[in-house]
Amino acid sequence: AKQTGSSSYLYYSREMNLRSLERLKLEGSLRHALDRGEFRLHYQPQVDLASGRITGAEALLRWEMPGHGMVPPAQFIPVAEETGLIVPIGEWVVDAACRQLRAWLDAGQAPVKIAVNLSPRQFSQNLPRTVLGILRAHDIPAELLEVEITESMLMHNADSVVAMMQEFAAAGVSMSLDDFGTGYSSLSYLKRFPINTLKIDQSFVRGIPRDANDSAIATAIIGMAKALNLKVIAEGVETAEQQDFLKSAGCDEMQGYRFSKPLPADPFAALLCASNG
Ligand code: C2E
Ligand code: CA
Ligand code: CA
Ligand code: CA
Repeated sequence: AKQTGSSSYLYYSREMNLRSLERLKLEGSLRHALDRGEFRLHYQPQVDLASGRITGAEALLRWEMPGHGMVPPAQFIPVAEETGLIVPIGEWVVDAACRQLRAWLDAGQAPVKIAVNLSPRQFSQNLPRTVLGILRAHDIPAELLEVEITESMLMHNADSVVAMMQEFAAAGVSMSLDDFGTGYSSLSYLKRFPINTLKIDQSFVRGIPRDANDSAIATAIIGMAKALNLKVIAEGVETAEQQDFLKSAGCDEMQGYRFSKPLPADPFAALLCASNG
């Protein structure tokens, strides 16, 4: 029994070492990824359900780790958050999105709104000043930028978060509440914060229309958004059945593979041209 115990301990610790080695390698590479220009943004269209027109896009971060290929954000964003690297990386995201918008405007393309994700770890008093500075540097109207925040951000330090959001709102930057329904925020948050849009999390969209609970939750979120005068977007829409259900339930917009995966800038611009004319 003693032997088994010690060998399973050895096995366990070897596995742990491998895992922390992988993690250290990832962290080391992530530290250089910005300097080495390894990040890209992909753009996923957001589509008006009534007209079928693209109203904007969510910018999603892509990282090609040398020798590894694409690392999914779900793997490297948590590491970026723990190490604080999310602050410069998050700034790069806003700058890259605004640089892209400027290139599209200069090329005479009809303007669309771009949404960027903000991590709770990026929150600081300086965040609105930084973001508004980037908008100004690229001469982008604030109305073309949206920031996506999660419920966990709202719960952090509610008063200073309200102040930060009011600065964004006053400047004309709109805000959406991401992954809605998955967090713990009370509904009173919706009144307290100057949110413009609710994004129904894809975990509820997945079961539509067959799963009665998912369908009821999505319908309730749409009803609540309407009552509070908020725009509502469904995430992760993959099928025609989901699209039809959401449209008849009164959902404003959809985002998901049903219409398009996240695309590099040029294919996104081509799709925009083809869809909106
Ligand atoms: P999210 O903000 O909820 O983004 C939506 C995710 O759903 C994206 O995954 C997108 O590619 C995926 N998706 C879109 N349509 C569908 C669909 O029809 N079906 C399915 N199954 N998935 C769909 P992605 O790009 O892997 O990003 C994962 C998460 O990483 C994001 O979730 C977001 O939380 C985070 N993330 C991505 N880019 C950034 C960034 O620039 N900054 C920060 N802080 N977080 C980011
Ligand atoms: Ca998002
Ligand atoms: Ca989301
Ligand atoms: Ca999510």
